[in-house]
Amino acid sequence: MAPKHKSPVRLRGHHLICLHFFNGEGYSPDFVANLRNVLERAEAGEQIKICEGADDVCSACPSLQEKRCLYSEDSEKEIREMDRAAIELLRIQSRVNISWPEIKKRMPEIFASWAGKFCRGCDWFAVCRNNKVFTLLLDEKAQSEF
Ligand code: SF4
Repeated sequence: MAPKHKSPVRLRGHHLICLHFFNGEGYSPDFVANLRNVLERAEAGEQIKICEGADDVCSACPSLQEKRCLYSEDSEKEIREMDRAAIELLRIQSRVNISWPEIKKRMPEIFASWAGKFCRGCDWFAVCRNNKVFTLLLDEKAQSEF
């Protein structure tokens, strides 16, 4: 079946990791609906273009103002650091195209490292931690640290 969208799904670095734990929660009903749609497109096999800054998920976020994240005072800087770390861990480069299954394949080897650095202090930790995939991706040692 031909894809409904001509352009690839645009995702920033940290969304390549964090979106694996989406369970229907989000900042607003519009944000959730958009995120569900983005994930459906990725899961359906549309190519993902790695971008810098606000992406197709951020575009429906109430905290996005003039292409910057205003969720908190330091959020723009913090999420850009997360983007860089995710891209490095996943061994990809910004502005390249990749598929969602390829990213999924790389998650088991990189997730303990990611979780140890970013998850504990994250506002979404309680939500992600409840997702079975989160636990499945961590080995016993990493789990005992949470
Ligand atoms: S807890 Fe936060 S940093 Fe960790 S996967 Fe979830 S959203 Fe990402």
